[in-house]
Amino acid sequence: MTEWVRHNMKLNNRHSIKDTYHTLRLVLGDQLNHQHSWWQETNDNILYVMMEVRQETDYVKHHIQKVIGFFLAMRAFSEEKQANGHHFLYLNIDDTNNKQDFSANLNVLMERFNIQHFEYQLPDEYRLDEQVRSFSEGLSISHKGYDTEHFLTKRDTVSELFKNKKTYLMETFYRKMRKQYDILMEVDGKTPLTGKWNYDAANRKKLPKKIDLPPAKHFLRDVSEVEKTIRAAGIATIGNVQAERFNWAITRAESLELLEHFIKIRLLHFGTYQDAMTERNYLLFHSKLSFAMNVKLLSPLEVVTACVSYWEKHQDTVSIAQLEGFVRQIIGWREYMRGIYWAKMPKYSTMNYFNHEAALPNFFWTGKTKMKCLSHSIGQSLDYAYAHHIQRLMVTGSFSLLLGVHPDEIDKWYLGIYMDAIEWVEITNTRGMSQFADGGIVGTKPYVGSANYINKMGDYCSNCSYDRKKRHGKDACPFNSLYWDFYDRHREKLGKNHRIGMTYRILDKMDSEELVKTLEQADFYKKNVNLL
Ligand code: FAD
Ligand code: SF4
Repeated sequence: MTEWVRHNMKLNNRHSIKDTYHTLRLVLGDQLNHQHSWWQETNDNILYVMMEVRQETDYVKHHIQKVIGFFLAMRAFSEEKQANGHHFLYLNIDDTNNKQDFSANLNVLMERFNIQHFEYQLPDEYRLDEQVRSFSEGLSISHKGYDTEHFLTKRDTVSELFKNKKTYLMETFYRKMRKQYDILMEVDGKTPLTGKWNYDAANRKKLPKKIDLPPAKHFLRDVSEVEKTIRAAGIATIGNVQAERFNWAITRAESLELLEHFIKIRLLHFGTYQDAMTERNYLLFHSKLSFAMNVKLLSPLEVVTACVSYWEKHQDTVSIAQLEGFVRQIIGWREYMRGIYWAKMPKYSTMNYFNHEAALPNFFWTGKTKMKCLSHSIGQSLDYAYAHHIQRLMVTGSFSLLLGVHPDEIDKWYLGIYMDAIEWVEITNTRGMSQFADGGIVGTKPYVGSANYINKMGDYCSNCSYDRKKRHGKDACPFNSLYWDFYDRHREKLGKNHRIGMTYRILDKMDSEELVKTLEQADFYKKNVNLL
């Protein structure tokens, strides 16, 4: 008996792994969809395989909590499936037989178990899709790919919708989704409930000083054993892990609890404060559901349906603006980003519209900077593997864009540091929405802001070493000079964009001496970025 078989029998003594199987089904670490048709009945001729492999832990330097979270979620999933009678072979990272690569492990297992047929669910990442496709095509046995049965759209829905169009408007896609799935629609199926599609304008409030911020739902567990295994394997990671900060839902039951917690406690103010920032709290009213959804423990449709049914019964307390803001993120932005990814990859991953070349500042890896907005947003990312949308977009993202950092460097950072970072949703947000490196496919203008924006939406500036009101001179906020420097140096590419006409009018009216001092200040900060 091989070590693999012994190991997996230890994991599950309910039934043993057999010597031969007809079919091998590969399950990837982000394919933890309990509702998938594969799991609806058991079949003794099918061997399911899941693997912890270095090819996945090492393609970028991940946050330690992310590696732990994936491993724990995968282990829990496989144990549950084994307990339900599925034949499941699970390869741990430190298994001596593990070749640390999907294709290499599959080749050995196929021979070992005399496999006649190979099946997989379509990977969500281009990189893995290519690997699984070329592996399958090289096999002498038959193979079949299945839908993951997770998303509301097909890979090509967005590209089909915008065929022959220059711009891909999210709002057009979102309205189509609302109608198609009959979400927040009048009975005619054409008119949005209350007559309004979008409550975006009501969703931009600064946090009042006195508001109670609910604590995050906690899933306390000891992760020291798995952390030890990861460290012993020599996997390079970033960030830190402490038991009280590893509060991730890693099973379906926990994910459902997290969803219930969000609906009952956080949805109430989700929309109103979704763009707010504060030093007081790392989560505000956000859901923290992205990891559970991205590994498919929860389906986007069940999340949205649960929120809508709660709202239907509690309209006296939860306004439609809160609900619509949340629904838009999931059936709108999340599905749309996936569609853009499949429409534009692999070219998307090399786009660099502004030809930015600068290095990512060192403090992105430590959080050690005097700029409060950045030290808090980066610090909490290192502590929790989490930052909410506006921190990602308007603090770390905006600063990197103003500075002119190469999108490759920025992608690597975002892909590694966040628990929910899987390329299809990371790169479209980072390279597209936040860096405008796609030249305007995802966004109609670059998302950048000066201290004005950060101060309007949060409390960071009141406790910062820099002066938010100054463009130049001692302690001038770096965002201010870098903001004008960005628009000045990219006039050729942005000057004709009607959405930023006003910005250029202000720039053009700026006193020439003021402009020179501002640009000199920006230049000084760019040259001394690691001292900021
Ligand atoms: P909430 O604020 O509670 O939102 C609810 C859900 O809506 C999220 O769980 C998510 O599934 C969805 N959602 C919201 N905004 C977006 C969006 N722009 N794109 C796709 N889905 C969205 N999201 C990821 O899942 N993985 C990433 O790697 C990722 N990288 C990002 C990088 C940048 C630069 C930016 C600006 C955004 C990124 N996002 C990413 C989108 C968003 O920031 C996260 O989904 C969100 O912060 C996750 O926290 P939450 O679950 O509390 O979200
Ligand atoms: Fe950030 Fe500038 Fe505000 Fe400081 S003053 S928190 S650096 S925006």
